[in-house]
Amino acid sequence: MSHNFDYDYFVIGAGSGGVRSARMAASHGAKVGIAEGRFLGGTCVNIGCVPKKLMAYAADYHSHFEDSVGFGWSAEKPTFDWKTLISNKDTEIERLNGIYKSLLENAGVTLHSDYASFIDTNTLKVGDETVTAEKILIATGGQPRRADFKGAEHMIVSDDAFYLSDLPKHVVIYGGGYIAVEFAHIFHGLGSKVTLVYRGDLFLRGFDDDIRAHLRDEMNKQGINLLFNTTIESIDKSDDLTVILSDGSTIQCDEAMAAIGRVAKTDNLNISAIDLHLAKNGTIVTNQTYQTSHDNIYAVGDVTGRVELTPVAIKEGHWLADTLFGGIDRPTPSYDDIPTAVFSRPNIGTVGLTEAQAIDKGIKIKTYTSNFKPMVHTLSNRDERTFMKMIVDTQTDKVIGIHIVGLDSPEMLQGFGVAIKAGATKAQFDEAIGIHPTSAEELVTMR
Ligand code: NDP
Repeated sequence: MSHNFDYDYFVIGAGSGGVRSARMAASHGAKVGIAEGRFLGGTCVNIGCVPKKLMAYAADYHSHFEDSVGFGWSAEKPTFDWKTLISNKDTEIERLNGIYKSLLENAGVTLHSDYASFIDTNTLKVGDETVTAEKILIATGGQPRRADFKGAEHMIVSDDAFYLSDLPKHVVIYGGGYIAVEFAHIFHGLGSKVTLVYRGDLFLRGFDDDIRAHLRDEMNKQGINLLFNTTIESIDKSDDLTVILSDGSTIQCDEAMAAIGRVAKTDNLNISAIDLHLAKNGTIVTNQTYQTSHDNIYAVGDVTGRVELTPVAIKEGHWLADTLFGGIDRPTPSYDDIPTAVFSRPNIGTVGLTEAQAIDKGIKIKTYTSNFKPMVHTLSNRDERTFMKMIVDTQTDKVIGIHIVGLDSPEMLQGFGVAIKAGATKAQFDEAIGIHPTSAEELVTMR
């Protein structure tokens, strides 16, 4: 333990990465403090993954009710109450906030419920207090990027979408990334009319092209209005909103949402006091061991812009605490083959290289695809199909990518992600026995 500082380790931001790092450091015997000015658990727990998934479940019920008719069920026409969903979601999040608080307390971490800002490289102002620390971790995450055209101030961002007082009748969503596509599903499933406006040819840039096309087709079938190669020029507000598009056409709606990416959250940190090196896009630059331009200051998670996913921030924060305070010597977390999901309808689950990435790397590949109606829809009669694609390196026979759009694909992909990480070959996939009847068995029977 250091004797000249209040803390051995002070963590700024009690989100996924910060909380894990603080707890692990404390478990290794360090004297640890953490500052959080907003809510415990950060974006993921409060205004991200968790409430988003709860709302996606709510949206899915719409089709479950319809699909049950083919299985013999009948009931009165179901109705949906937005306020009940939001209130129950808030109760669950409060429960999780409490769990995070006890996790920190039980680990012996001192919680400061305030924002922290730098005075110098070892000194922070936390609320009205001044604290000193030998090592400091910045884990402040990110926040939605705001659009900047005329009238953009009338747009909500994902943070707001979780707290709307009413379900919009017609929402225009601007962007073509994870958040745009997931909220298109949520609002559509709950009963809003949805128009998604994206500047490029096809949304979800970076995902496998066949996956993007399949999801586009499925969303079109559901009646979500997809406008590609289109930008929003401005928004006028009277009673409703009028969204003016690049082709000169207009859309009337009662809510418009910007989902055009996220930016690092460094605005409360008084970064200028310590002359910390930031990248052009505002993220904090670190080396491979998460050290910033100051030796004793580290950064993990979204604020570094490396891979903006909760489990990645957790891995980074954990590794750092083990290395700095646990005397544990192990390789830095690997960023290869990170499985990821988009909770669209149908879901996307993906791991490894896309076909385009494999070709770009000069890998000789063979692709296997499967396009089928999942069993549940034989009786529900819903016109929704699953698409799967496997990419195999023909020289090594290793499976280097699996991409699925379909029911439960994120649940399928977690296990297959382990297989890919372990370097499984196509021959080993073929040797595996399928679980019948499931969609996942397709992946071991692709010929
Ligand atoms: P993304 O970076 O995924 O997507 C941003 C979208 O906005 C892209 O379609 C981009 O277009 C478009 N865009 C960017 N700038 C502009 C602009 N100035 N004008 C118009 N369009 C613009 O960001 P998200 O906000 O959707 O999500 C942020 C990150 O959070 C994700 O990348 C992901 O890492 C994480 N996340 C993960 C989830 C999950 O795991 N399920 C869920 C939600 C978020 P273009 O492609 O042309 O650049």
